[in-house]
Amino acid sequence: MAFGEIPNQPPGTTYPNRAALVAVGVHRNRQAGMVGGADRGTESIVLNGGYRDDRDLGDEITYTGYGGQDGTGRQVRDQSWEQANQGMRVSEAEGLPVRVIRGWKGEPAFSPVGGFRYDGLYAVIRSWEEASFDGPRICRYQLVKTDDAQVPLTGGAAPTPPPRVASTVMRVVRDTMVAVGVKTLYDYKCQVCDRQLVLPGRIAYAEGAHIRPLGLPHQGPDVPENVLCLCPNDHVRLDKGAIFLTDELDVVDAETLEVIGRLRRHPNHHIDRTHVAYLRGMFGY
Ligand SMILES: [Zn+2]
Repeated sequence: MAFGEIPNQPPGTTYPNRAALVAVGVHRNRQAGMVGGADRGTESIVLNGGYRDDRDLGDEITYTGYGGQDGTGRQVRDQSWEQANQGMRVSEAEGLPVRVIRGWKGEPAFSPVGGFRYDGLYAVIRSWEEASFDGPRICRYQLVKTDDAQVPLTGGAAPTPPPRVASTVMRVVRDTMVAVGVKTLYDYKCQVCDRQLVLPGRIAYAEGAHIRPLGLPHQGPDVPENVLCLCPNDHVRLDKGAIFLTDELDVVDAETLEVIGRLRRHPNHHIDRTHVAYLRGMFGY
């Protein structure tokens, strides 16, 4: 999978046909409206008038999953949460960016007159299922355009500078590919409390927590040695100084100064103690 912007293909780039999209890697399938997998997320979608339930407001899109149509575009069967349909839920949970391409048969107000156009990165902020216009059930997604200039995440390369958190109505934690790798190592179980949060659709959810914060003024690196796999509660506790880690990786309650546990650590996951000490120092521990 290749998430994020494709080098030399900035938003606004136009393409004469689907083959041209495939050739540069913006949308790597000539027929399918979505490119993705249930295990990794969905990297790109095309809006081209294929589903009458789609709603395109420009910066906000309500998109329909794939499948269940007859040859005339009528919805005749229920869709299911599989392949790219489920992948969109993974993208939502991971905060992975989705490339949006509009074609000439899409909503006239926002679509090119001919051919196809790459329109930038969107975040999936909600997914659900409901009855379609024709009756059978469909998978649904709400996407919003991400304003911030997104750095390439192509091919799992470590992005520098790291992506910022998108400013949308919902809390979108956009993990880097490094963070996704650490979470996978722990099977999405929190290194502090050992719990795995499971969302509807059997999506395991955890957050990649950078020990020394990314960005100015802290300049923490986006490397596995600086990333923990945490549940949202323990992520916030660590970020806000409610808990901290000793050099022995004991977890300490900052209020009582009692050791409340030990950080779980995978043998292949080295944790850089200088970053652990840096975070302690931020809160004066
Ligand atoms: Zn936890």
